Amino acid sequence: MSYQVNKKGYYGEFGGAFIPEMMHPNIEELQQEYMKIINSYNFRQDFIDLLKHYVGRPSPLYFAKRLSEIYQTNIFLKREDLNHTGSHKINNTIGQILLAKSLGKKRIIAETGAGQHGVATATVCALMGIKCIVYMGALDVQRQAPNVKKMRMLGAEVIPAVSGNQTLKDATNEAMRDWINNPVDTHYIIGSVVGPHPYPDMVARFQAVISEEIKWQLDEQRGRELPDRVIACVGGGSNAAGAFYHFLDSEDVELIGVEAAGKGVDTNESAATLTLGKPGVLHSAKSVVMQTEDGQIIEPYSISAGLDYPGIGPMHANLFATKRAKYLWATDDEVLEAALQLTQLEGIIPALESAHALAALKKIDMKPEEITIVNLSGRGDKDMETYLNHFGY
Ligand SMILES: *Cc1c(COP(=O)(O)O)cnc(C)c1O
Repeated sequence: MSYQVNKKGYYGEFGGAFIPEMMHPNIEELQQEYMKIINSYNFRQDFIDLLKHYVGRPSPLYFAKRLSEIYQTNIFLKREDLNHTGSHKINNTIGQILLAKSLGKKRIIAETGAGQHGVATATVCALMGIKCIVYMGALDVQRQAPNVKKMRMLGAEVIPAVSGNQTLKDATNEAMRDWINNPVDTHYIIGSVVGPHPYPDMVARFQAVISEEIKWQLDEQRGRELPDRVIACVGGGSNAAGAFYHFLDSEDVELIGVEAAGKGVDTNESAATLTLGKPGVLHSAKSVVMQTEDGQIIEPYSISAGLDYPGIGPMHANLFATKRAKYLWATDDEVLEAALQLTQLEGIIPALESAHALAALKKIDMKPEEITIVNLSGRGDKDMETYLNHFGY
């Protein structure tokens, strides 16, 4: 069985491109060109060069000795938190800005919720001297003021979306409207493995550098390319897709995604899509969606803004349906405890999102000789206020 996307943009029954007629020219251009471009020699050279000298790759694969002692096993952390701008998101925006340049685009648009993807996009636009417009829900503009300031300092125009709940969904609608009106000169940078085909596959390919590095780094340190399991948090699912990618066909490697359960999966304040959702269409693709009986999207909740999403990428919906990957969840309280544990055992303050993957360590069996990789998707600087409020330092 293949866990990769097929020619029509489907992972099993999930994926596709459910787009309005007016978006066909934009999406068709991307569908026809993306593989040619990202497999071209020039693109590969530029991508590898920027990942190395600008992002700071390879990110370390770190054996967490004290954490391993606690769990009586071998735990490695893939340090995406050490990337420029503090998370894995830059891998994707570097790839997409190079793609946009190859397509001759002069203008970039993006949507952002918490602002992390907006900052990663504004960063690569500054790097390339390309105009950048970021749509952000008006409520999020207020809640995420530091990221808004960063984007503006980087030269991006931040446009508040004032419709609906004034959050991510409304920002996405505004970005799509912009793209429909500017099909020739504009590229839309989506921040996770979501949206219409080819975005899920394209973003997964850019993030796949994570598992590509894990293989040779583990070989270097332990004389084997394959770990026993890989654990990653899942919002839209891009850091998990990248951490799983080169292990998908090695069925002996257990793959575990961890969703945000918020206050608990039995409360109405959760974002555990695969646990609570049903098949449906969101952001122009068929996947699993948190929805009411009559198909209304349920507003998600999580302590971590980056996992606060009512859908999940179609690749994960298929890995879940085929049981190739397992999906667990962690509550806000479990996540805070796991973040504090890592901080005090290893001297690493993780992003709240990444702490979901760490919280899963308590929920699984690991044998002493086994090797478990936790993808540490980002650093905790942006979450200090939340940590301080909870721990009272
Ligand atoms: C945005 C973000 C996530 C969630 O996005 P995915 O597409 O699921 O990876 C996870 N961790 C960090 C640090 C983020 O910034």
